[in-house]
This record gives sequence, C-alpha cells and structure tokens, in this order.
Amino acid sequence: MTFDHDLFVIGGGSGGVRAARIAASEGKARVALAEEYRMGGTCVIRGCVPKKLMVYASEYPGLIEDARAYGWKVADGSFDWGHFRAALDKELNRLEAAYRGGLTNAGVTIHDQRARVVDAHTVELADGQRFRAKHILIATGGRPFVPHFPGSDLAVTSNEIFRMDALPSRVLVVGGGYIASEFACILNGLGVNVTQSYRSEQILRGFDDECRSHIADAMRASGIDIRLHSIVTGLRKTGTGILASFAEGHEAEYDLVLYATGRVPNSDGLGLEEAGVRLGARGEITVDDHSQTSVPSIFAVGDVTDRINLTPVAIREGHAFADTVFKGQPRQADHDLVASAVFTQPEFGTVGLSEEAARAQEPIEVYTARFRPMQTLFAGREDRVLMKLVVSQSSRKVLGCHIVGPAAGEMIQLAAIAVKMGATKEDFDRTVAVHPTMSEELVTMRTPTRRD
Ligand code: NDP
Repeated sequence: MTFDHDLFVIGGGSGGVRAARIAASEGKARVALAEEYRMGGTCVIRGCVPKKLMVYASEYPGLIEDARAYGWKVADGSFDWGHFRAALDKELNRLEAAYRGGLTNAGVTIHDQRARVVDAHTVELADGQRFRAKHILIATGGRPFVPHFPGSDLAVTSNEIFRMDALPSRVLVVGGGYIASEFACILNGLGVNVTQSYRSEQILRGFDDECRSHIADAMRASGIDIRLHSIVTGLRKTGTGILASFAEGHEAEYDLVLYATGRVPNSDGLGLEEAGVRLGARGEITVDDHSQTSVPSIFAVGDVTDRINLTPVAIREGHAFADTVFKGQPRQADHDLVASAVFTQPEFGTVGLSEEAARAQEPIEVYTARFRPMQTLFAGREDRVLMKLVVSQSSRKVLGCHIVGPAAGEMIQLAAIAVKMGATKEDFDRTVAVHPTMSEELVTMRTPTRRD
C-alpha cells in the first residue's frame, strides 16, 4: 500500500503539534497536520495562555494597594480592557506564528481546514482533498459544555470571554471547577462585581477539602459572592441585562453570564465511529496506554481522550506516541502524580493525594502550616498561606503536597519532583530551609496536625 504521508494529524493544539514535530524532525516521517481554527489550540488561543495573562492583569490593583503600604505614592488607576485585548491579540498572534513556524521548520505540511477520517488510512479535508496516511493521530481537544435550559443560549463560555468588547459590571459565573473559580477571581480582580453559583457543597470538588475551604473563604473575603447549593433554572434578556432565575427562588440581573460547567471531547463529525474507532460514553476516544485506538493505525492524544485534561499531559502523550511509532522507542505517557495549579486568587498548587483520598487508602499523618506571608503582612493584608503535607504512616512517603498562596504554581512544580521521586517526610526535613521564603515552611513542619 502506498501512502501520501507517514502521519496525518488532525488538530493543531498542544498534543497534535508536539507529535507532528517530533515525528517529522526526529522520526524523519512525512507528516501533515490539519487545523480548522488557529494553530496552538485551546491552551494557546483560548485557554491557559490568555487566562494567565488575565490573571496577571487582575492582580495589579492589589499590588498597587500594597505598593502604597510600602511607601510608594501611587495614584488610583483604571483598567482599559481595549488596551489589554489589543496587547493580548498581538501576543496570541506571536505565539500562533511560533507554533506554525515550529511545524514548518520540522517539515510538516499544514492544512488550514477541517479534516475527517474516512477509513483506517484515509483523511478527507473540507475542500474534498483526500490523503492516504500510514498513521492518523486525532488531537482535536475538547470544547465547553453548557447544559440545556431556558435561555441557555444567552450564556457565554471561556471561548468567548477573551473576545468581550467591553468589561461587564456584573457577572454571574456558573460552575465550581478550575475555569469557573479562576474566572471568578480574574473578573473580581478587574473590578467586576462577581457572583459564583455552584450546585453542590463546596467549589473545586475533587481537590483537598481543607484547601477548597481555604480558597473559598479567601475568595469571599476578596469580594466574590459564592453561592453554594445554587442552581440556575433560566436566563432571560431584559432591557438592561440578563435576568437569571435560581431554583432557590430568587432572580438577579447580570451583564454577562459565564458558564464553566465542564468540557466535552471534540469527537463529533470526525467520521470516527464509521471508521471503527470506539468512543466512550462522553464521546471520548477510547485508547490504550500507547494512545492507540480500536483501529490500530489510528491514535489519539489530549483532551479528546479525556484522561487527564491538562496541556502538559497532552504534550507528553503526543511525544510518547511519536517516540513509539516513529523513533522505535516505545514509551508511555506517565499519568501518575501529575501536579497542577489552579490560578485562583489565592493560587493553588497540588500534587498527589488529597487528605481524604489518602486516608481512604491507609493511615496517614497530616502536617499543615497556616501563616500570613511577610510581603502582604507588611502591607496590612489578612491573606494567609496554607501548606500541607499528607504523609503515609508506614512508608513515610509524602503522598500529597498542597499549597495555597502566592506563587503556589511555581512552588508545586519543584515540590512535585520530590514527591514523584518518592521523597519521605524525613527527606523534606533533612533539606535545609531557604530563608526568608514562604516555601521554607515545607521543610520545617515538625508536629503532625492530625494522625489517623
Ligand atoms: P470541571 O470539570 O473542572 O468543572 C465543571 C464544574 O461545573 C463543576 O463544578 C461541576 O459541578 C459543574 N457542572 C457540571 N455540569 C453542570 C451542570 N449541568 N449544571 C451546573 N453545574 C455543572 O470543568 P472546567 O470547565 O472548569 O474545566 C475543564 C477542564 O479543563 C478541567 O478539568 C481541567 O482539566 C482543565 N483546566 C485546567 C486548568 C488549570 O490547569 N489551571 C484551568 C482550566 C481548565 P460538580 O463539581 O458538582 O460536578
């Protein structure tokens, strides 16, 4: 059988781009990639990158306030959304060009259009061109999910939030996960009046309970109106905004309603099931440890497989696939002990098991430190940092490390190396503190807060 390409990648996000580049440059494969929107995918174009830049933008009012406490004479300012959006567009264009350049430099042929699978070795582009490929990689990511209810079409998602024409004054954020909690904080920091509605007992379900409460308390203290056990039943346009009805029995008007109620895999309309690719209940592509689907020549990586939906994981999956198939170096992406950060304010960095999950597994010791960090304490702020180690009583290994506070994302990346290496509590203790820092608390916690 003759092929036009050794690999055809559908989707130009983090996972697809990494796989294409490695296969072409190091695996010497003939590679093509189709992307229907902008190169870079969710992370670069409408996810992690613009979100983090908005986090930075939203932190300045607090920094300016602190600067005064440190003796700076600073005038009150105002935020110019138009200026920020133009600068953001410029940066995203730069990044998109870098992604595109990386692919072309590696020798990958790019098709700027939608593609679908015809059979195990054939891909068809929107303009009707067909290509035969020895291997096909599906890396089409995910998209926001909004439940269907009266007026749900009035809600926006994280896809639209970066494209707003103006900053709204009153926003309702629905959901309690990463995206809802991060945007509640971002918008609040930018001076927007924010209500966050979450259907259950505490935001950030699945994370360590103590950290969730700590974050929610701090978010409330910073002015976010978090409503728990809250369910939106309808949205209606009025002359002045959007009226939301709640199951709890009240109504309130907002300028914008942001739904961040999860994401679903982008597997529709790709011809996958017709080609024999097995999908799971949520539309996720079912893959084995080598990201191989039920059709041996078709592989899938990233959010479309709904394993751990994080950019660096998709990159690892794409890289492992390319190493395995094109470099003759069989490798699996490691999904164990993946650290992550939630860019709420305060920020949250976490790796390993929550206290609850660890306790369900074995007897543990929990070490916690709660303190007001030097920098903001001096500025008169009440903000508290929470650091927490969850330790196995029998092996002494640190099963989980959780940090809530400034730069928690940066700190957890480094702590994660130790946790991944299987460090014990005594290994942490043997490490001399770096002083004065916040992270020194991680190596100076002497007495367990709880032991059971
Ligand atoms: P999550 O799955 O994290 O959260 C979804 C939230 O919406 C949950 O609070 C859920 O409630 C709620 N929800 C789900 N369905 C409904 C419904 N029908 N009505 C009301 N509420 C509902 O999804 P996100 O959209 O926040 O993020 C998607 C993924 O993107 C994350 O899982 C993460 O992997 C990734 N991400 C990572 C980031 C990072 O690393 N910093 C940042 C942003 C996203 P309940 O808890 O009750 O199920």
